Amino acid sequence: MSELKHLKKEWKAIMSCMGCGDCGYAIRPAVDRYLTCPVKEAKGEGGFEIYFARGRMNVLKSILEEQIPLSRELAEFVYECMECGNCTEVCHMSQNEYIVLNTSKWIDHVKVWEALRKDLVEAGFAPLDRHGKLIDYMKDDNMRNPYGEDEAKKFEWTTKFPEIKDRGELVFFGGCTMPLRQVDTLKSMMKILKAAGKDIAMSKDEWCCGSVALRIGDESSVIDIVKHNIDVFKNMGAKTIFTACAGCYRTWKKDYPELLGEDLPFEVKHITEILVDMLNNNEIPFKLVEGSETVTWHDPCHLGRHMNLYEIPRDALLKIPGLELKEMKRNRNNAWCCGAGGGVKSEFPDLALDISKERIKEAVDTGAQILTTSCPFCIGNLSDAYKEMETDVQEKITVIDIIDLIAKKI
Ligand code: SF4
Ligand code: SF4
Repeated sequence: MSELKHLKKEWKAIMSCMGCGDCGYAIRPAVDRYLTCPVKEAKGEGGFEIYFARGRMNVLKSILEEQIPLSRELAEFVYECMECGNCTEVCHMSQNEYIVLNTSKWIDHVKVWEALRKDLVEAGFAPLDRHGKLIDYMKDDNMRNPYGEDEAKKFEWTTKFPEIKDRGELVFFGGCTMPLRQVDTLKSMMKILKAAGKDIAMSKDEWCCGSVALRIGDESSVIDIVKHNIDVFKNMGAKTIFTACAGCYRTWKKDYPELLGEDLPFEVKHITEILVDMLNNNEIPFKLVEGSETVTWHDPCHLGRHMNLYEIPRDALLKIPGLELKEMKRNRNNAWCCGAGGGVKSEFPDLALDISKERIKEAVDTGAQILTTSCPFCIGNLSDAYKEMETDVQEKITVIDIIDLIAKKI
């Protein structure tokens, strides 16, 4: 039997699950709640207990009571979860805001799932095969990204932008997904910054933020990365660092200080916070627009439920000329995940696509012409799902990063 070092710390949360099943079945129109777990729903008839929080909690109780051992077979189920946090939002939540259950908000499900993942990794039952490769690539001195690409490739796009400085107070952390998979969005970002007269600095010595390993539960692979990245930005004179990736943002702002046990020596912002400031100050010179388009906002889990950043992207959208915002039925803390997080996209790509298609259908139901968000994982998965959807869906809506959306209007 493994030591269960991490799960034992979460025993109160695990034992406080009262088995109500809201994490699988809650539909409460009074509080805009329409189902909870995207994995359970995507599994359809096969969405039995282990695929949503109640079943997982029951298994964890048995693990803590040493009735079930950790195993590779268990790991295969455990990683079919995006760590989207939607179960936390409904758990012990009454339908009436004046009734507070005495165990309300006891359980931080994502923390519990990550404790289990850490114990599985330490016991040698995880990472799963593809996850293991991502972590190996991330640690490789010639790569430092989970995509297995040469390190230099991540910075090729910067050669077109000699105005990017080596040192400065406002420093951009590029991460891996955008420079290696959605590089045009970075070019759009530079177009916006240039139009607004903003200077940024960037380092070619930044490494993958480590999010991929943290979400998989391999904390020990990340400590050196955290120290390296912080040193790099400290030496550049950074006062604020910003990123265009929701995953990097969560990792820098939440995980890095928690791992180090101290505050970072600079402020961490998401690109939407930078954009909203520029929009509020009228610093972006938009083209004159005629007519208006309708847009809906998808809340990335790593921005919304994980970091409580809901209104800033909406404030930004409302400031863009010629746009009208339409909300999806499940928005803000009830938003349906895109399906990509927690390592699901790499290990279970079909599951990730099924969940994303459901989200696109929800966006179409708003009547909006544009589905936008600000996370390269969400954009990548939504775009992959979109390509597989029927022509009538594709004719109704397009999927675009908020950065590209703004850049097109300059
Ligand atoms: S974190 Fe999301 S995917 Fe995982 S069990 Fe909870 S609701 Fe389901
Ligand atoms: S909603 Fe919370 S208390 Fe209810 S079964 Fe799910 S995890 Fe347990």
